[in-house]
Amino acid sequence: GRSRGPGIIKTSTTAEKTDEEEKEDRAAQSLLNKLIRSNLVDNTNQVEVLQRDPNSPLMATVDKLKKPQLLQGVYAMGFNRPSKIQENALPMMLAEPPQNLIAQSQSGTGKTAAFVLAMLSRVEPADRYPQCLCLSPTYELALQTGKVIEQMGKFYPELKLAYAVRGNKLERGQKISEQIVIGTPGTVLDWCSKLKREPLCLAQKNILFFFFEMVSLPCPGWTQTPGDSKTLSRKEKIYTQILFISQLFFFFQTRKTASWLAAELSKEGHQVALLSGEMMVEQRAAVIERFREGKEKVLVTTNVCARGIDVEQVSVVINFDLPVDKDGNPDNETYLHRIGRTGRFGKRGLAVNMVDSKHSMNILNRIQEHFNKKIERLDTDDLDEIE
Ligand code: ADP
Repeated sequence: GRSRGPGIIKTSTTAEKTDEEEKEDRAAQSLLNKLIRSNLVDNTNQVEVLQRDPNSPLMATVDKLKKPQLLQGVYAMGFNRPSKIQENALPMMLAEPPQNLIAQSQSGTGKTAAFVLAMLSRVEPADRYPQCLCLSPTYELALQTGKVIEQMGKFYPELKLAYAVRGNKLERGQKISEQIVIGTPGTVLDWCSKLKREPLCLAQKNILFFFFEMVSLPCPGWTQTPGDSKTLSRKEKIYTQILFISQLFFFFQTRKTASWLAAELSKEGHQVALLSGEMMVEQRAAVIERFREGKEKVLVTTNVCARGIDVEQVSVVINFDLPVDKDGNPDNETYLHRIGRTGRFGKRGLAVNMVDSKHSMNILNRIQEHFNKKIERLDTDDLDEIE
């Protein structure tokens, strides 16, 4: 019989949602993450792209498949050593008989590359009908994943992709000859309804791969600044000092104060990026892209953006105000998410809390108690200490 590939599904999400706003934001978040993280990371080190080495574990695994075009594709992408998730997931995904898989790891750890590889290993390019279905939570992510498929599969001249995303209509009864369909759930459903017979994807056996994104919460060294004045100058002095070190995040409780600081800092001539919840996902993506490229050194943002966003080069987070919930109690979870932006993947990070009143000191003390971690006091007159 004809060899048929599996159906593949990818969903992407961040863990532990509490409030509604962030639930709606899940898909957008995973896209933003992808934009930010252009390099592969693992838990301790950046995975180096080694010289082409035929004895490397990744190549050996792919070599066993006896699919030289796929091997070529993987080489061309500069992959050599598998990341942790790839090391664990690929043997299962490439096994015979194939198995269903649910996997979760942080953004940028090689999930996409893993399932694209698995997908391509199952596709029969000579057969002109859909054999794999890949679902993405957003339009942009679908395009981005599609690019990876095209890149890794470029040595298969017959291989074609169909994008089931908004704007791409399928006429009633129209046939799909592409081997891989990638799209968002809404359009994929629409396409299904337009097909007269036959499921959208002709897989002999349906194998499902689910990939989830995970947020890890490291606890980097925390520091606090006891401030006596609410003025920008005092806080900004610290900020300016830190600016020389690396890129940094400023977190705010409200949009209003966030835009206020962004405006103040811009007036002072600093390059500032402002990210807030009411922006469209495309706008946010553009802001993050610029920040990641280093066009701005400071990102001012509200809690909405505190979760899931990783910017590798950011080693400093400043809590301009401490996160509190609606009742004014410390929002410990958000605090952890905010400071979780730094010191990721074993890198060192610094979180600075701006404390300028008895009230905020009290909040900070309660956060300290909650985590049972001492937050050290930073001498603001001795700014060398920050470095
Ligand atoms: P995720 O889907 O988990 O966010 P990706 O698969 O997009 O991660 O990988 C992140 C980055 O690392 C991409 O630029 C990708 O090309 C690269 N990458 C993936 N696997 C490897 C590997 N084994 N070696 C080197 N780079 C890799």
